[in-house]
Order: sequence, then C-alpha cells, then structure tokens
Amino acid sequence: MSESNRNSTHLTDVTMLGLGAMGSALAAALLDAGRSVTVWNRTPGRASDLVDRGAEEATSVSDAALASPVVIACLIDHSSVVETLGPAAAQLRGRTLLNVTTTTPTESRELAAWAAENGVDYLDGAIMAIPAMIGSRASQIFYSGSRAAYDVLLPTLDIWATSEFHGEDAGRASLVDLAMLSGMYQMFTGFFHGAAMVASMGMSAADFAARQAPFLAAMTEGFDGYAKVIDGGDYTVAGQQSLEFSDLTHIVRASEEEGVDATPIAMVQALIGGQIAAGYGSEGLARVYESLRADG
Ligand code: NAP
Repeated sequence: MSESNRNSTHLTDVTMLGLGAMGSALAAALLDAGRSVTVWNRTPGRASDLVDRGAEEATSVSDAALASPVVIACLIDHSSVVETLGPAAAQLRGRTLLNVTTTTPTESRELAAWAAENGVDYLDGAIMAIPAMIGSRASQIFYSGSRAAYDVLLPTLDIWATSEFHGEDAGRASLVDLAMLSGMYQMFTGFFHGAAMVASMGMSAADFAARQAPFLAAMTEGFDGYAKVIDGGDYTVAGQQSLEFSDLTHIVRASEEEGVDATPIAMVQALIGGQIAAGYGSEGLARVYESLRADG
C-alpha cells in the first residue's frame, strides 16, 4: 500500500475477500501480527471468529473494497473472482489488488489486464502451503505482477510465509505453482498405484507408505543430476541411466498381472518408448523432458 492511498478514509490496513479455509487463515495471521483487517464472505456467518479477534466485517464487496488500500481475494477460482470483483471495479480504483486464488497463468494475466483498465495495481499470489502452514517461514508464496506493490507489501506478505517474486508478468507465479503441483499430484498417483499393486498381496497402504516415503525422499536427490543434464541439453553425458535400461514394460505387465490399472506407469513408459522409437535409446532417461517441453 502506498502512503498516498493510505488516507484517513481507510478504516483498515487490508481487506480480505473470501473466508474459506485459506482466506480465514491468511486473515487470522494478519490480525495476529497487528494489522487491521476488513473481511467479507459471499455466504454470511463465516466471519464471527475473525470478528472476535478484531476484524471488521463488511456486508458488501463494494464496502469491503472501500475499507482498505489493499484488497486481497482468496476465492475458489478465477470465475468467482471475476464475478465478485466486476461490480466493485469503481471502488477498487486506486487500490492494490492481491489475488491469491489459484488460477492458470492466462487467467492471472486476464485479471491483471482488467485491473490495469480499471486503475488497480495488481499483484498475483500462488500459495504453496495448506492453511495450517500459514504464518511459518517454511511455507512459500510466489508472487508476480506489480513490482511496486510487491515491494511495499513485502512486510505484510512475509507474515504468511517466505515470499518470492517471479517477475512483472502476472502469470509467472501461478505457472511455477501449477508446475510444482503437477509434480506433487503425479507423485501421489504413483504412490496410489504402487499401493494398489501390493494390495493384491494383502499389504496395507500404511505398510506400503512406510516403505515408499523414505525411498521416494532418497530418490529426489537425483533431481539435481537430471536438472544439470536437462539444462546442459546433452543426454549423452556418461553416467546417465539410459532410456533402454529404463524400459518399464515389466512394471506395466506386473500391474496388469495383478489386475491393477496400469495407466500411471503406462503413461511413463509411453514417454520412454517414444524417445526410444525416435532413436535415442542409448541416451539418458532425462531425455523424456524433450517429449514434454513446449517446443519439443
Ligand atoms: P474453500 O475453503 O473451499 O473456500 C472457498 C471460498 O471461495 C469461500 O469463501 C467461498 O465462499 C468462496 N467462493 C466460492 N465461490 C464463490 C463465488 N462464486 N463468489 C464468491 N465467493 C465464492 O477454499 P480455500 O481452501 O479457502 O481456497 C481458496 C483458494 O486458495 C483456492 O483458489 C485454493 O486453490 C487456494 N489454495 C488453497 C489451499 C488449501 O490448502 N486450502 C492451498 C493453496 C491454495 P462461500 O463461503 O460463500 O462458499
């Protein structure tokens, strides 16, 4: 918030639109840190805990927007943000809008363009944490969009997590966020698939997890090596596990023999097989990246 728009008409430091699990956690952390907060939620009745802790409750989005120089949106998705903010464009003019709702990069850019048209300084945020982790420096939140807004807001943003700015293109924070989540969900699905395989011999998911978690944690140490190969672009560097050695048809077959849907591992094998078919079988496993990248 700039000093010029932090004038006496503002009732509070920050407005929070959306009091779901995440919006409530963000607002609570701000109150705990001594910030004054106005809150609004579409469905009434979700603000009482925050009001007990000192928050002001607004009954309309327009009043909520007028209450503070900084307005934070933490709603369910892009369309809910557009639907909520659209009618309050006039009240948002001259303010900073921080949108921490999960959106795609294109959606973030669309909102940034809408904000620019309406005289609103726009910062996009992508939260790499669950609500219970808000307030811990071990959590990360990525930002992109207005550098000026980021710099002014940093002491406030740092209340929630470790803050990281990814550039003035508003879509960048969400791109990093969704790329991180893509890796996470594929890892979880790999675990679910493995748990389904051993279930056929009576092993519980808990027993499998006790073995799988330390194994996967150790395997992540391989990321650095793969990253060096990808960034260097040479998949022939000695010491790499080759694509041919990485053929996974035996895992696909084992899954099918146990009557377990092999879709997750068959997807990986299809990528490996595609590179082998293209003549790169003796090169490193990380060459799968070449099948995936945008201009690959
Ligand atoms: P949530 O508990 O389901 O709350 C959703 C919020 O969005 C509620 O305040 C809800 O209001 C509001 N909402 C939904 N549709 C709306 C509409 N059409 N117009 C106005 N408000 C609407 O979700 P959450 O966990 O707080 O998540 C909020 C955002 O944070 C999401 O984008 C999510 O991806 C992101 N996020 C969450 C987590 C997490 O672990 N929870 C982690 C990282 C990022 P009502 O009460 O009226 O339904």
